[in-house]
Amino acid sequence: MADCVFCLIRDGEIPSERVYEDDDVLAFKDVNPQAPVHVLVIPKKHIASLNEIQVDDGELHTQLLLATKAIAAQLNMAEDGYRVVVNTGDYGGQTVDHLHFHLLGGRSLTWPPG
Ligand code: AMP
Ligand code: ZN
Repeated sequence: MADCVFCLIRDGEIPSERVYEDDDVLAFKDVNPQAPVHVLVIPKKHIASLNEIQVDDGELHTQLLLATKAIAAQLNMAEDGYRVVVNTGDYGGQTVDHLHFHLLGGRSLTWPPG
């Protein structure tokens, strides 16, 4: 979508610090990090939210999860642990309407969220 921030990042029209990329998945550092490591993992295809994922995209869902796992390992978080968050809709606190996994780590995280 032309006015989607994450589509513009995917297309290189907004700068980002990329940490991972393959044909279908892109990951870059969150501009407002909430932990020492805060990466956003997105499908390159514009999917508005978790509410919009389709069974047909099954392979993409798997790729997103495996990429997230690989990035966590690449950033040395596999052993200590990390958190993956998918804010969805208003109550979920979603502010960018392009599906993204927050990958957070580098410190012990508290629970529950606010
Ligand atoms: P959410 O509130 O779950 O939709 O998360 C959106 C995230 O995108 C927030 O954590 C923002 O800090 C992050 N964000 C917004 N614009 C950018 C950008 N241009 N580059 C990197 N991260 C961004
Ligand atoms: Zn988009």
